[in-house]
Amino acid sequence: MTTAWMVLLSGALGLAVGSFLNVCIYRLPLDQSLAFPASHCTNCHRKLSWFENVPVLAWLVLRGRCRTCHAGISPVYPLVELFTGVMFAWAAWHYGPGWLLISRLLFGCMLIVLFFIDLRHRILPNVITVGGTVIGFVLSFVTPPGWVSSLIGLVIGGLIPLLLAEAYLRLRKIEGLGMGDVKMLALIGAFLGWPLVLLTLAVASVLGSLVGLGLILARRGDMKLALPFGTFLAIAAMFAAAVGNPIVAWYMGFLR
Ligand SMILES: [Zn+2]
Repeated sequence: MTTAWMVLLSGALGLAVGSFLNVCIYRLPLDQSLAFPASHCTNCHRKLSWFENVPVLAWLVLRGRCRTCHAGISPVYPLVELFTGVMFAWAAWHYGPGWLLISRLLFGCMLIVLFFIDLRHRILPNVITVGGTVIGFVLSFVTPPGWVSSLIGLVIGGLIPLLLAEAYLRLRKIEGLGMGDVKMLALIGAFLGWPLVLLTLAVASVLGSLVGLGLILARRGDMKLALPFGTFLAIAAMFAAAVGNPIVAWYMGFLR
């Protein structure tokens, strides 16, 4: 199979997987089953026909409205599908077939789901953070960064933020980092290894501070509107997974 075909097929698979990620994003925080009932309009509860389940296209054809009750359908649905499709196509091209591709795609899907659930509900479900940490560590036996780096990564990811959170709590008497964020960092460490989880934490902190500062300036000081940290961790981890290794190599060369 030529590379072009593989990228195309992977992208198509990504669109379908994105559809499933939408189900996870919507149902996981509500403790609903992922399998039952079949996809339905969340307003009038009518079961969707097969063509209404076609990723991205269905939303475009229906112009973002339910066919029966005309309730608006969030543009987040097609966006998640499109982003997942692009991610699958890019990863197939970048990694080629193998365990690393499978590992990075699983990781990417978890980050997408965590990003949106944290954004909407300000929670990071254990099913993904803790379950994903185990999967990431197991996969590290057959993929980079290897199990030693993965183990150190999940310990650093879980431990350093725990100490930071404790210090923050004692100094400022407020919770700077939730337990969900700590478990998410362990997940990132397990998949990417210790150098990249540190990079992720640094990038997420800078990103979070910049956006927080922007919000303070724009809204004149309402910190409660700041975005949850898990969303920044998801973006930073995507960045670290895609381009982190050259950055870490450059930084290590700098230290020598
Ligand atoms: Zn409807």
